[in-house]
Amino acid sequence: MKITAITIFPEYFTPLSLSLIGKAVSEGIIEIAISNLRDFASGNHKSVDDTPYGGGAGMVMRPDIWADAIDAISDSDADPNRIIDLIILTPAGKRFSQEDAKALSQSEHLLFAAGRYEGIDARVGEHYKSQPRFRVHYFSIGDYVLNGGEVAAIVMIEAIVRLLPGVLGNPDSLLEESHNEIGLLEYPVYTKPPIWRGLEVPAVLLSGNHGEIARWRQISSKLRD
Ligand code: SAM
Repeated sequence: MKITAITIFPEYFTPLSLSLIGKAVSEGIIEIAISNLRDFASGNHKSVDDTPYGGGAGMVMRPDIWADAIDAISDSDADPNRIIDLIILTPAGKRFSQEDAKALSQSEHLLFAAGRYEGIDARVGEHYKSQPRFRVHYFSIGDYVLNGGEVAAIVMIEAIVRLLPGVLGNPDSLLEESHNEIGLLEYPVYTKPPIWRGLEVPAVLLSGNHGEIARWRQISSKLRD
């Protein structure tokens, strides 16, 4: 899977070189490229925004500069036939869920558009919707407003990439996780020591009775729902 992000703050994406995502990159499971939107701007200030039509506070990101950046990624794609899932991050988008992560984990190329200021000119999404190589998605990571889409992109990338084969050390970790198809939250988990600050691990988990443990976990999941 190829993952590209367009941003005016490429440094925001440095955490992607850490931990399991960093390992997935070094093992060739995913390829990540970060594109600086300002590289497509002209003038001394490399400005990427302008005042909003209709007036109002703040600035809007210009569609021509965004399109130059997106086209450059599409034109230089190693596989010119693969579909690009263009993900426009916006608080007005669909609330991102585990189900979306699963669907997007099938993508061959995810392209994240991280907005700033008052967001990206609405014609960018409109235009790429009509381009056969693109599928356009609008996603929000929650009902609050961030300063930019970079953190939202990282949240989505982490949720998607951990579903790819070979990324998690033990793929069984995915089976009983919260928000999976069964629709239950995961049961509470415990490790050593068996008594910590007066709090004991539920006795059933120390019993070695796998049937009882499975039953306890199922009931605990339902109680969390
Ligand atoms: N004026 C916009 C509004 O009220 O909907 C908010 C713009 S916000 C300050 C700047 C950028 O941050 C957005 O273009 C988007 O890329 C990103 N962003 C902010 N909150 C987000 C969220 N909850 N989910 C995804 N992206 C978000």
